[in-house]
Amino acid sequence: MEKVKTAEVIVIGDELLSGETTDTNSTYLDAGLEALGWMVRRHTTVLDDVDAIASAIKASSKRCQLLLCSGGLGPTIDDLTLAAFASALNCGLRKDESVVASIQAKFEKLGRPMPPNNERQAMVPEIGEVIDNPVGTAPVFFAHLNDADVYVLPGVPRELKWLFKEKISDRINLGYRNVFRRSLKTVGRGESSLEYSIRNIIAKHKDKVQFGFRAIGVENHIKIMAMGSGAEDAIQVAADDLRGILGDSIYGVDQEILPEVVGELLIGRGDTLALAESCSGGLIAKQLTDVAGASAYFLGGCVSYANSAKSELLGVCESLLKRDGAVSAAVAEALATTGVAGPSGGSAEKPVGTVFIALAGPDGTTVERKQLIGNRSGVRENTALVCLELLRQKLL
Ligand code: ATP
Ligand code: MG
Repeated sequence: MEKVKTAEVIVIGDELLSGETTDTNSTYLDAGLEALGWMVRRHTTVLDDVDAIASAIKASSKRCQLLLCSGGLGPTIDDLTLAAFASALNCGLRKDESVVASIQAKFEKLGRPMPPNNERQAMVPEIGEVIDNPVGTAPVFFAHLNDADVYVLPGVPRELKWLFKEKISDRINLGYRNVFRRSLKTVGRGESSLEYSIRNIIAKHKDKVQFGFRAIGVENHIKIMAMGSGAEDAIQVAADDLRGILGDSIYGVDQEILPEVVGELLIGRGDTLALAESCSGGLIAKQLTDVAGASAYFLGGCVSYANSAKSELLGVCESLLKRDGAVSAAVAEALATTGVAGPSGGSAEKPVGTVFIALAGPDGTTVERKQLIGNRSGVRENTALVCLELLRQKLL
């Protein structure tokens, strides 16, 4: 088996370490690098400081074969990446006339004079290669250092994405895929119980496949990963074994989302759906209609929030609302979802997160009481997912 080729990413900028900006560039590059055959081993985030950037580049270039850096290529005094790269390469800086000309041309096109500090962007390491950047003023730069091919890209996400796709990916494409992943998705099953129920599968495949768990609200995803030759088959066999144990608990794989899966089931059966939402405030309808073509099965919904709306719009008996309260099984039966989303409105009997979900179909009505966790938006989000999952189970 060929040795795994590893990559690292360094993102540069004070704003990435002060809570100001979320680093989305690394995430974008991870997926792109993996698709081109690379195994990403490490991210580093560095301040706008020459020594810190230079030492991060040096250290990283000894650990991997490909290093992508982003940020710090602008014209201002806090843009230090190329000076730091020169220091890591142990060389000086030179002015690149092609970069000067290209920046000048961009300013002319805008009908503005080029400020003199933009010339700073044309100062590049004496060793290495300038790669033209038609989508911005900062040059992209390449040089080899220690074990690694090093590329320096702008920090602006839009520019970085374009340049990675159009200018870099062909140069770094290994022509095969090394890392394979699959995510099997469930709703409403705890992480630990999920792991316990598949422990024998994990043990059986542990030499070839790595297992992981990811909880997102009420969703739990089992992640499986394998590397190298035979990885694709190993993933398939492990996934089949997991399905053997978990069966219909798995609602989907990878990019599949629950509203889409429910929609397909409704289409397959020729069924239609209508909603009467209270605590979820229309979120279930929103999730269903995020899927294109939902009008084939989703007729519409009503968000009845106040008690008066529950009785006037949906005909929920006022005496029922008085007797059992709006958050109750009896009212849910007349509605679809009702609950306490919080932060206020909870009681000992019905604490925040108490939700009643009713499902009415040709073969009768069922009501379930759930205790969901989360803040207000979390409870609502989870209500929608639990509701769709109940529907999915019913439709199977
Ligand atoms: P360039 O190299 O293109 O000049 P820069 O880092 O020098 O970029 P900044 O002004 O620091 O220029 O960043 C440009 C924009 O890109 C800012 O809005 C910044 O927050 C954003 N940005 C920089 N790095 C990242 C990152 N890793 N993830 C997401 N956004 C980023
Ligand atoms: Mg910056």
